[in-house]
Amino acid sequence: MTDKTELIGLSKTEIQEKLIQMGEKPFRAKQLWQWLYFHGETDFDKMSNLAKDLRQKLKNNFTITRPKIVAEQVSKDKTRKWLLEFQDGQRVEMVYIPEDDRGAVCISTQVGCAVGCRFCHTGSQKLTRNLTAGEIVSQFMVARDTYGEWPSPTAETRYLSNIVVMGMGEPLHNPENVIKALNILTDGEGIAISRRRITMSTSGIAPKIVSTLKATGVRLAISLHAPNNQIRSKIMPINDRFPIEEILKACQEYQSGDGSRYITFEYLMLKDVNDSLDNARELIALMKKYKLRASFNLIPFNPWPGCIFQPSTEKNIKAFADALEKAGFAAPVRVARGQDILAACGQLKSQKEKS
Ligand code: SAH
Ligand code: SF4
Repeated sequence: MTDKTELIGLSKTEIQEKLIQMGEKPFRAKQLWQWLYFHGETDFDKMSNLAKDLRQKLKNNFTITRPKIVAEQVSKDKTRKWLLEFQDGQRVEMVYIPEDDRGAVCISTQVGCAVGCRFCHTGSQKLTRNLTAGEIVSQFMVARDTYGEWPSPTAETRYLSNIVVMGMGEPLHNPENVIKALNILTDGEGIAISRRRITMSTSGIAPKIVSTLKATGVRLAISLHAPNNQIRSKIMPINDRFPIEEILKACQEYQSGDGSRYITFEYLMLKDVNDSLDNARELIALMKKYKLRASFNLIPFNPWPGCIFQPSTEKNIKAFADALEKAGFAAPVRVARGQDILAACGQLKSQKEKS
C-alpha cells in the first residue's frame, strides 16, 4: 500500500485545493483535470504542458489507478462484459451494450447489494462494501480505454454515448459517492457525458430519490416490478420499508415543475407472479392515480442457478405490453443481449469465483 492520494474520484475543487497546498497556481488543476478526464492519461510523464518538476511532484504525491481487468468476454451480438478488480481484490462487473452508432455502459455502485431482491443474483450475494466515487468513475474509464475513446470524443461521434447505473448494487444506498461520480462523469471539461444520457436505476429508496436526482440531473428509472404492495413485498422485501405509495409520491415530487422529466419503470416479467392481464390493468390504474409521465421497460427474467422464478412466456409478455400501450404508455420489451456470455446481473463474477 502507498500513502499517495488517488486522483481519480477527487472533485475538481479537491484537486485544486491539493495543488494550491503544493504551492501551484489554480490553473494547473484545470490542466491536470483535462489530462485525467479529457485525455484519459494515466502517466504523469506524458502530461506535456506541465513542467518537469511539477510532474515529479505529482508522481511523488498521487496515483492514477484503473481497476484491473480480470476477465473480458465479447458476445456474438458484440455485447462486451468485463470483470473488474479493485485495489483490495473486490470485484464487480461492467457491461457494454452497443447499438448501431452508439451504446450504453452499465456500471456498478456497490460490491454485492443489501436490498436482497429475490429474483436478483447480486442480491443473493449480500453487501460487501460501497464503491468509492473513484471506483465508480474508473469503471467507465476502463470502457473508454478498451474502445480507444480518448481524448473525449464529441457527443455526436462517441460510441460509448450513454451510461446506465444498473450494474451491481443499489445506488441510493451509496448516494454520496454516486453523486460525486456522476458529477465527474458529466463535467464538460472532461468525460462530458450529458446528464440526459445517464440513467440511474433504483429499487426505490424513497427518501433519497429526489435529493439524489436534484444533485445529479440524470434520468430516473424505478425497479417497480409489481402493480401492488402484496406482490412487490414478496419479490422485493425492501417494499415493506418503502412501499409503492411512498416511491410514487417521491416520483411525483421529482416531476413537479419540470415537464421534461420522464420516469422509466422497469418491470421484470416473472411467470405467474406479476405477468397476468389483471396485473397489467392494476398497473395502469396505479399510474393514472399518480398522474406520472412514465414509460415502461419490460424485462425478460434471466434465470440463474438456484433461483425460484421462471421467465414469463413470450405470449404473456406481448399481451402485457399491448395492454400498457393501449393505455398510452410506451412499453418496449428489453431485448436480451449477450445471452452467450451470461449477461445477467452477477453471473460472470460467480462463474469466475467457482473456477
Ligand atoms: N439496484 C438497482 C440497480 C441495479 S439492478 C435496481 O434494482 O434498480 C438493475 C436492474 O436489473 C433492475 O431493474 C433489476 O430488477 C434487474 N434484474 C435483477 N435481476 C435480474 C434478472 N435475474 N433478470 C433480469 N433482470 C434482473
Ligand atoms: Fe440490489 Fe437491484 Fe439486485 Fe435488488 S435488483 S438486489 S436492489 S442490485
